[in-house]
Amino acid sequence: MAEVTEDQVLDALKGVTDPDNGEDVVSLGMVSGLVVKDGNVGFAIEVDPERGPQLEPLRKAAEEAVDAVPGVLSVTAVLTAERQAGAQQPPPPQAQGLAPQGPAPHGAGPDAPLAPGVKHIVAIASGKGGVGKSTVAVNIALALTAAGHKTGMLDADIYGPSQPRMTGISGQPNSADGQTLDPMENYGLKVMSMGFLVAEDTPMIWRGPMVMSALQQMLRDVNWGELDIMIVDMPPGTGDAQLTMAQQVPLAGAVIVSTPQDIALLDTRKGLNMFRKVDVPVLGVVENMSYFKCPECGHESHIFSHGGAKLEAERLGIDFLGEVPLDIEIRETSDGGRPIVVSDPENEHAKTFRAIADRIWDKVNDEGAALGRKMPEIIVH
Ligand code: ADP
Repeated sequence: MAEVTEDQVLDALKGVTDPDNGEDVVSLGMVSGLVVKDGNVGFAIEVDPERGPQLEPLRKAAEEAVDAVPGVLSVTAVLTAERQAGAQQPPPPQAQGLAPQGPAPHGAGPDAPLAPGVKHIVAIASGKGGVGKSTVAVNIALALTAAGHKTGMLDADIYGPSQPRMTGISGQPNSADGQTLDPMENYGLKVMSMGFLVAEDTPMIWRGPMVMSALQQMLRDVNWGELDIMIVDMPPGTGDAQLTMAQQVPLAGAVIVSTPQDIALLDTRKGLNMFRKVDVPVLGVVENMSYFKCPECGHESHIFSHGGAKLEAERLGIDFLGEVPLDIEIRETSDGGRPIVVSDPENEHAKTFRAIADRIWDKVNDEGAALGRKMPEIIVH
């Protein structure tokens, strides 16, 4: 079948008119971020914030128009609201130097700090998908909650959000004022995910700038309130979108999750380098699916290159935060929306996750170490 082209998509969108002025959305310059990949189409429709809530039918009409193009397999259209009419998208980046924590002044507008009430933001990242990053992230977030810290979880894996499933939350977030969203909550953990805003089976193929504005909105336009710590489940990989996120979100640090195999394949080192490039301290590495523990006899089978993460971390001078085995209970509980830290807190793996979470907490609260760079020395004579 012939590949669908951007022109075909735009032609279809020319048939969709903005109800308020009768012109088509393409001529009005409302379509942005168009991506066409193997028959999957994604784009944004930029609208004024006040009109956003009324324009769902327009969004639907745009999806339907594109869906009718021969060869199109899926369509994802999102409404993006510019913060000020005529303002440039995406919002201006935060200062490159990053302000990892510290008191940030409150205020509104695109220059406002992204999450002023959040003390520490920690990214959980991986060099590639499928290593258990989301599983580790949710268990760490719940372990921090169990330790009494006010915790939030931002699922920034916009391409394939898993946190609605893993936290066992469904439904859509509330908006009391029509401007900001209340985060969802389960097990005492506040959660926001693109998965609450779009259907789970919708493929997400957005390009970098759109991903960025979605992430910034999930930080800025969500009522996170006062949090001790926020865990960000990053999209897998080390591409441009991840790099931009790492750069523009005021991260206190990053944790890299890897399997024994992907250590061997250098993916983890790419992750380390990505955070180094943007001057975000890497708090440490977690080796997931580290070994296999037989549920019948308790025998531990060590998977090829088990221990690689620890060795590699040592070699690179990065802390090793812990190892989590391949275990059916970990899988079943996290995929079933009741991660092991909350469903079986006395389980040894739950204890492992709590120990990892404690290490992360200690690190972000030990400012000098958390910042990974020298703090100015105050010398008292
Ligand atoms: P990622 O976020 O890196 O793509 P996920 O956290 O979604 O990976 O995990 C992928 C799959 O592997 C999920 O089904 C998850 O339950 C499972 N999984 C993750 N970690 C473990 C583990 N330690 N033991 C067993 N299954 C695991």
